[in-house]
Amino acid sequence: GSTFRESLSEYHYHCVRSLDYSSNIIKRARLNSNISFLEADIIDFSSNGDTSKVHTSAGEYHGNWIFQSVLPPPGYHRAKVDISLLQHFIGWEIETEKQSFDPDTATLMDFNTSQKNGVTFFYVLPFTKTKALIEYTLFSEKLLETHIYEDALSDYIKDRYGLLKENYTITRVEKGAIPMEDRKYPQWYCNRVMNTGMAGGYTKPSTGYTFSRLHDMSKKIVTALEKGVKIPDIKASGYRFRVYDMMLLYLLKNETDISIQIFRDLFKKNKFDRILQFLDEETKFVQELRIFSTLPYMPFFRSIYKMKHRIFTGA
Ligand SMILES: Cc1cc2nc3c(=O)[nH]c(=O)nc-3n(C[C@H](O)[C@H](O)[C@H](O)COP(=O)(O)OP(=O)(O)OC[C@H]3O[C@@H](n4cnc5c(N)ncnc54)[C@H](O)[C@@H]3O)c2cc1C
Repeated sequence: GSTFRESLSEYHYHCVRSLDYSSNIIKRARLNSNISFLEADIIDFSSNGDTSKVHTSAGEYHGNWIFQSVLPPPGYHRAKVDISLLQHFIGWEIETEKQSFDPDTATLMDFNTSQKNGVTFFYVLPFTKTKALIEYTLFSEKLLETHIYEDALSDYIKDRYGLLKENYTITRVEKGAIPMEDRKYPQWYCNRVMNTGMAGGYTKPSTGYTFSRLHDMSKKIVTALEKGVKIPDIKASGYRFRVYDMMLLYLLKNETDISIQIFRDLFKKNKFDRILQFLDEETKFVQELRIFSTLPYMPFFRSIYKMKHRIFTGA
């Protein structure tokens, strides 16, 4: 296959470990005497007038507002879902004796592998010449047996880097399954209890990105609370980007070869910075048209036709 290599100029690519992220937030929260911590199971939320309540295994607590990313909102199971895929992966952080990696270059999507289980690719994030995270990822409906991910990883490490199992140590394993769905999420669990995070539908269906969207949402809420104004209607994505996500989801589910062709053209014919800006939903319509003009257009028309019952009714 072909390789497209490019340096980022406007955007930066960061790797943040979830443990560092959460311990940093907890550390900063602990500095504020008006924040208390409680570890308990959350059973439900309710509200009464201007008061909201969380029901936990350690009792009930109330407040003016609750922001929750724990329970699926009411109606979750009844919401219309046309396409339900998973982004599922196993990643190994490995350490090698011989210098094997280029720490200046990450591999975002290496499709050089069997595509029989759906769109499948490897991701390589080198930290040093001897340490890297290598992930085997699929966009498909079903999880696979663990040994299939593991065999794919060891074959890839052997084929691409010439490393046999005895040539490296696995220092950490990462495993995940992130939903890629066109489900609609309500902003409110009940009066004064707002859904956030994955439970609020903040996971971008076509990429799984959630954190940056959560940060944007949190800023909007904090600004409203500080100003003492009503919390605005917040949508995880605007209409245009929901439509793009639906089109791509349709193709990922139904047309593996064409999806790979689209990724190939996307990376070959567009600047990485622009692609990241697009995935962050920060492009203007004209820029999006320019991106689409570099991609095969018939599959997108087909996906619009197949998803028209959603696209023309507000997505
Ligand atoms: C391996 C992996 C890698 C990921 N990488 C990225 C990434 O690089 N970028 C990105 O944007 N997103 C990534 N994601 C998606 C990621 O899950 C979300 O970005 C983020 O964790 C969403 O935060 P959240 O608060 O909605 O959900 P979570 O982080 O899942 O938090 C929900 C919390 O609620 C707790 N909980 C659940 N039920 C109850 C209950 N009844 N009572 C009390 N507590 C409960 C859970 O234990 C959990 O701690 C990744 C996900 C996985 C699994």
